Amino acid sequence: MEDGLQYKLMKKIPNWINGLEAMPSSGLWLKKINPANERVDSLFSDSNQKDVESAVKFAQKAFITWSKISPVKRGQILFNLVDILKINRSSLAKCVARETGKSYQDALGEVGAAIAQGEFFAGEGRRLYSNSLNSALDNKFCQTIREPHGPVGLIVPANTPIANIAWKIFPALICGNTIILKASEDSPEIALLIAKLSKEADIPDGVLNVIQGHGHIVGESLIKDIRIPLISFTGSTAIGKHIASVVGLRMGRVSLELGGKNPFIVCDDADIEAAVNWCALSAFSNAGQRCAAASRIIIFESIYDDFVKKLIKKSEKFILGVDKNSDIGPVINKKQYISILKHIENATQEGGNILCGQSGNRLNSKKGYYIRPTLIENVKFSSEIFNKEIFGPVATVHKVRNKEEALRVANKSEFGLTAAVHTKNINRGLWFAKNLISGTVNINSGTYGSEPHMPFGGFGSSGNGTREPGTEALNVYSELKNISFLINLDAN
Ligand code: NAD
Repeated sequence: MEDGLQYKLMKKIPNWINGLEAMPSSGLWLKKINPANERVDSLFSDSNQKDVESAVKFAQKAFITWSKISPVKRGQILFNLVDILKINRSSLAKCVARETGKSYQDALGEVGAAIAQGEFFAGEGRRLYSNSLNSALDNKFCQTIREPHGPVGLIVPANTPIANIAWKIFPALICGNTIILKASEDSPEIALLIAKLSKEADIPDGVLNVIQGHGHIVGESLIKDIRIPLISFTGSTAIGKHIASVVGLRMGRVSLELGGKNPFIVCDDADIEAAVNWCALSAFSNAGQRCAAASRIIIFESIYDDFVKKLIKKSEKFILGVDKNSDIGPVINKKQYISILKHIENATQEGGNILCGQSGNRLNSKKGYYIRPTLIENVKFSSEIFNKEIFGPVATVHKVRNKEEALRVANKSEFGLTAAVHTKNINRGLWFAKNLISGTVNINSGTYGSEPHMPFGGFGSSGNGTREPGTEALNVYSELKNISFLINLDAN
């Protein structure tokens, strides 16, 4: 990396190990680019295995005491962190907005979602229920208890960075694990801020450690480390498959929250205005960088022309930018920007017709990785654009004759994360809900995920069957132990 004066003076984002800032052992730094203006925002640690080693060592040590603290007490400590997040809401949102290129308002909403996660899981300190079981024997009493795994590896993406982090650290901590959090290369600072706030909240040193750097270097060290019994990963299906194979081979536990190619179905009896609004939000909010983004819009033929005309009009009205009057920010980095444009270009080469938005060529004159909301029709089911997750503001539209065909098109995917159906007919809505291959089905709203107390996760290539958050996340972050007592009922 350049070593000019301008970089020497730049803000540096180190690792966080054992309650302290830790410089990368390589002495090297990577550039974090602000996607809205393409300027260097900060420098972050180019860490390596040595740094991971150090974090694991302290996380192991801290586990001995953290795991012995009662869940009630751990919950009280997590409530401290929730309070501190609330006090720092505004500075956290500013950091998220700067690192991701979303508006301050959107970032503030995301901080609120992280706080809600914290509140839910801190409250689990007074529940953390397990089962009391009966037995075939009259004098045998059985119960299950939850035990933490140990130091766990949490690997996150940058699309909603503070929510992604909260989604994992709160359930991991309430269950008694210690953490090595691998921050995303695209949102290093927010991870450091949370770690610093955790110290203010009296989370003991070594319980929450953060490692910055490249996924293929430090992420790879983490997943191979046999001292890490659980890896919880949110990210792309390609990396998720790799992690499953590496961690599975050493009999580690893995939770995978992966990609989506989510269908949005509009029936002939839908409230068209409401469906258009939900559809545009589902496809384009956060610049389409949501695992739950609507990317295949499936419309009954009798309303197709009317719906598509209104959706184009709505999509063309979105203002690109990061100020409070804007609707859609840039995509996260240059690599992703180029990849999305390439997908659009490939779609046109495969016969797709762009209805609105971006052609494959760069059209923006201003700085920033902005892509206009793009709708494409006339797409073949065999095409790349129909099958691959694009992770940008791009969706395809499909005309179908009836509900059976809508269902067939919707289920024609390796993914199965979220789906939305718009209809006024409750029977039809529930028919879709029963038959869609999807972890979440929303009737008459968007392809959105869950709330903190609801399980979220996908069928097929969208995950490996685990569900986070909700109380189901407790099953990810703890091992169940069955204990029985054989009692001599007459010996008293
Ligand atoms: P990504 O898979 O490229 O990276 C995710 C994280 O994995 C990053 O921190 C990265 O550094 C790390 N990583 C990369 N290579 C690694 C390796 N070999 N070993 C260990 N870690 C490694 O994903 P991304 O582009 O950052 O995020 C977008 C993806 O995340 C999309 O596919 C999206 O659908 C998915 N996502 C899923 C959910 C969900 O809940 N299902 C939520 C948000 C995002």
